[in-house]
Amino acid sequence: MSTELTLDVYTSPLVKLPEAVGGWFSPTTSTLLTGPTEAVLVDAQYLADDVAEVARRIQASGRTLTHIFITHAHADHYFGLERLLELFPQAKAVALPSVVAEIKATNEAQRTMWRDWFEGKALDNTAIPEPLDGDTILLDGEELKVIEVGQADVAPATIVWVPSIRAVIAGDAIYNGVNPFLAASGPAEWPQWIESVDKIAALEPRIVVGGHKNPEAPDDDLAATVDFTRGYIQAFIDELEASSDSRDLVARMRGHYPHNLNPSALVISAVTAWKRKKAGHA
Ligand SMILES: [Zn+2]
Repeated sequence: MSTELTLDVYTSPLVKLPEAVGGWFSPTTSTLLTGPTEAVLVDAQYLADDVAEVARRIQASGRTLTHIFITHAHADHYFGLERLLELFPQAKAVALPSVVAEIKATNEAQRTMWRDWFEGKALDNTAIPEPLDGDTILLDGEELKVIEVGQADVAPATIVWVPSIRAVIAGDAIYNGVNPFLAASGPAEWPQWIESVDKIAALEPRIVVGGHKNPEAPDDDLAATVDFTRGYIQAFIDELEASSDSRDLVARMRGHYPHNLNPSALVISAVTAWKRKKAGHA
């Protein structure tokens, strides 16, 4: 007997960072998976308003939230956890052991950094997910499979694969219509990120939810998710090689991808890549 699961993706708006920090923060997704009686949330947002909207959707679903799964150890995907666990005390926050270890190691530093970046608008968070036992979360008896893909915009990175509806909740292994963040990794990691994208493609999904996406962009178009992310990383590798400086790299990437949201993510990625290149790490 198969139970049809449904998927509700919430994408936060593009956020302007304070002048002192500069630039913008990309729209970030949280995905609510629901069965007939239960719900599982993947990634928890970080700004009070967005966490409140996610909570409203959980309540409106009428389902019992059993788990909140965190894909990777970045504050934008898990700082809403403490608030959500207050509102849904029956839910268990979980992540794969490698991600739990990374969250434990970096939570203090991220609390300080995010308080400064968002001038107090980002929620503070001390909640740490528990290590998931095995690789399966059951949602009304249907299996959700958790897969460690290795490198994404950071490592370790994990995804959720929902075989019954052929959906991947991809965390930051996949971007959709938004400039991928390539400043937290380098030339040694970028080909590994492409390998992670290929692992997702090999599942032959019908739906792929990127961790950061244009709110208008479809989740059921592999050209916009898998092909876009793979192509963008490869173009960045090639244009870093061909460009004369970071401004030239930005101009070349804008030429390839004129419609991507958040140009500031491209600028940071280009400036960081060129700094490393000049320092001889490329
Ligand atoms: Zn992210």
